[in-house]
Amino acid sequence: MTTKSHSLKVSISGVRGVVGESLTPQLAARFASAFGTYVGRGKVVVGRDARTSGPMVKNAVIAGLLATGCQPVDIGIAPIPSALVFAEQSQSAGGVVVTASHNPPEWNGLKFLSPRGLYLNPSQVEEFLDIYHQGEFSFVPADKFKKITAEPDPLEPHLTRLLKALDVTMIRERKFKVVADCCNGAGAVLMPGFLEALGCRAVMINARPDGTFVRDSEPVPENLTEICRAVLEEKADVGFAQDADADRLAIIDERGEPLGEELTLALAVKHVLTETPGPVAVNVSATRAVDDIANAAGVPVYRTKIGEIHVVEEVIQKNAVIGGEGNGGVIWPRIHACRDSFSAAGLVLEMMAASGKTISELRDEIPFYVMLKDKVEATSEEGHRIVGELRRRHAGENIDTLDGLKIRFAEGSVHLRPSNTEPVIRILAEAKTREEAARLLASFRNEILRPKS
Ligand code: MG
Repeated sequence: MTTKSHSLKVSISGVRGVVGESLTPQLAARFASAFGTYVGRGKVVVGRDARTSGPMVKNAVIAGLLATGCQPVDIGIAPIPSALVFAEQSQSAGGVVVTASHNPPEWNGLKFLSPRGLYLNPSQVEEFLDIYHQGEFSFVPADKFKKITAEPDPLEPHLTRLLKALDVTMIRERKFKVVADCCNGAGAVLMPGFLEALGCRAVMINARPDGTFVRDSEPVPENLTEICRAVLEEKADVGFAQDADADRLAIIDERGEPLGEELTLALAVKHVLTETPGPVAVNVSATRAVDDIANAAGVPVYRTKIGEIHVVEEVIQKNAVIGGEGNGGVIWPRIHACRDSFSAAGLVLEMMAASGKTISELRDEIPFYVMLKDKVEATSEEGHRIVGELRRRHAGENIDTLDGLKIRFAEGSVHLRPSNTEPVIRILAEAKTREEAARLLASFRNEILRPKS
């Protein structure tokens, strides 16, 4: 199977590429000029994660915005949720965040924000990309250039909302010991202050926001050995691991065991529903445990296509009280309609404080499912063709084609889809036992690699 892993990825979640290859300063400036034309000369918030290529890409973005008469507001390194809350609160015309999320360090990318501090929705993306492809940008003459504004405290609106929404007094009383691993990413600029405000004794690791990736940024168990060891050594109550732009969170229990990212969402859903029952919105692949928890609370679960914006739109439309993705991306709309590792961490600490239980005890109360993930390399074109074939082959079964192909069996489910951000087909199998999940995963991996004739 051939793979062009370095080609530019343009999707509803933005633009990603390898710096100097598919993501050049020219390209970043061109996208920013298209965005400046699209929003029409207003104030545009520009933030970035901690990647070493961040200053180059950010300055190219600022050049493109200035050229089209926008006023860039440079907020520097900021966790994604902080940038989004700031963009909303500052009544900007839009925003650009320079980040490639969990992609390897040689990557970078751009995410584009609406005036409400939300990612552009699919129809807005289409309109914006039309301008990009047509290349007719509204450049302004020299006497119309605006100044770049620097923002002294861009994290404040986000932190204030978090501390207002959480029961800070109750959490502070417990003086939790917390190990936090920020992957030397954007989370490092806020996590120490956030934990301190919650009265936690914080042990910070990988907390220099300098973009040196000491581990793979994706907060999945195999990348979390350092924090697991630290939680044990420090006898901490809990460990929190973020990805490089701090929208996703993984949790480590007091015995140094990673819970698995799906449990971040399940715990947040359970806690929020105990306090404020209401609708839940999650993507099609999120764990069945969410359905079990919502059923017990008597509230509906709305499922969406994969992609943060789809969940965000559903959260807003259905007035959900909580939502998110099974990759550790919790959306707590009381803070902002975006994935937020700080909301997730705060909710977990509040849950521990309110219940008086340890994190492993809380984990044991979540309905048990084993979810196994795998991926097979395939270009986007190959991926769509293969998944299409499998849809036809399994048409007689209990299938869901909302996004890719999900097949529900009595004993579990399997979900296959071509990724929007990487040249792979993602496979996800969930079942009540590890053996059954592994069997489903292997069987479908096999089907993808060696299609039956
Ligand atoms: Mg991320």
